Amino acid sequence: MLRRSLLYLSGQPWLRRWMEHSPVSRKLTSRFVAGRSLSDAIRILQKLSSENILSTLDYLGENVSSLEDAAASTGCYLKALAEIERAALPATVSVKLTQLGLNFSEQACRANIRTLVDRARVIGTRVEVDMESSAYTDRTLRLVTELHNDFAGHVRAVIQAYLYRSEVDVRMLCARRIPVRLCKGAYQESMSVAFARKADVDANYVKLMKLLLAEGTHPAIAGHDENIVREAIRHIKEQNIAPDCYEFQMLYGIRRDLQRRLIARGFRLRLYVPYGDAWYPYLMRRLAERPANVLFLAKNLLRG
Ligand SMILES: Cc1cc2nc3c(=O)[nH]c(=O)nc-3n(C[C@H](O)[C@H](O)[C@H](O)COP(=O)(O)OP(=O)(O)OC[C@H]3O[C@@H](n4cnc5c(N)ncnc54)[C@H](O)[C@@H]3O)c2cc1C
Repeated sequence: MLRRSLLYLSGQPWLRRWMEHSPVSRKLTSRFVAGRSLSDAIRILQKLSSENILSTLDYLGENVSSLEDAAASTGCYLKALAEIERAALPATVSVKLTQLGLNFSEQACRANIRTLVDRARVIGTRVEVDMESSAYTDRTLRLVTELHNDFAGHVRAVIQAYLYRSEVDVRMLCARRIPVRLCKGAYQESMSVAFARKADVDANYVKLMKLLLAEGTHPAIAGHDENIVREAIRHIKEQNIAPDCYEFQMLYGIRRDLQRRLIARGFRLRLYVPYGDAWYPYLMRRLAERPANVLFLAKNLLRG
């Protein structure tokens, strides 16, 4: 119930406007967001790199309200890629297609994302195309497939285990050798398209994870579920899968204990590091995943 309410509130523009301009916003976000500016984020990436942790940089923003905003987001990502190159960081970027104008023009969005992937190719990194709600799944996978055809090795798709369709999508992506990040899924979806019970989502995640480890191209196992991480490690050892064939991915600020343990055991770990002013929907999804975070943030605010 609380999860549904938080996801509903995550899409309310009036609350978003108010929260993002609130004087307490820094206190609300510091745990999960690297900072407002690119330089804040680069500092975090450098620190992570010194701890042997890879990263993927997310310039916050989704469902932009004009093609001008989409072009501005593209410009911000180009600056981020330039900084990644300058500082020689082991980092990719993560991008949402609605941030690049998908709601206004598929053609403009295609031009924007192509610019980014081409730049990533030049500097030897990759663009990870985040998956948004199921209203965008077909268009997102279509664009990622096109990008892979022209820039193989420089784009990664994301698959959400809560969607019934995902096994078919994973098989299609494996057949085309498109790298995949597997996550559970963070949006409010109806029972007509997605598993509602956590146990069913988890079971589908494990099934798709094994499929990706067997047939995928450099899959990323994204999430913080300790049972799933344990099962992944058991399976990887049992199948004798080489450490450079896959990676774990987690969100900045979440389950830092588990992150440290993976690094200590020599696994490849990439953290998803968001930065920027448009943090509201991102934070609300993190609260919805773990409503106890609401209490954590409230305590933070009260602490003065
Ligand atoms: C690198 C990365 C990229 C992602 N990209 C996408 C994407 O493109 N599209 C998309 O829909 N979703 C994306 N997600 C979010 C994902 O779909 C899940 O919503 C999120 O990872 C929570 O699921 P979980 O695997 O942590 O498992 P859960 O079953 O939700 O949680 C397992 C345990 O993890 C810890 N935990 C989980 N979430 C939190 C939290 N917010 N705060 C504190 N502890 C927490 C708790 O200990 C919890 O018991 C991404 C996640 C990661 C890690």
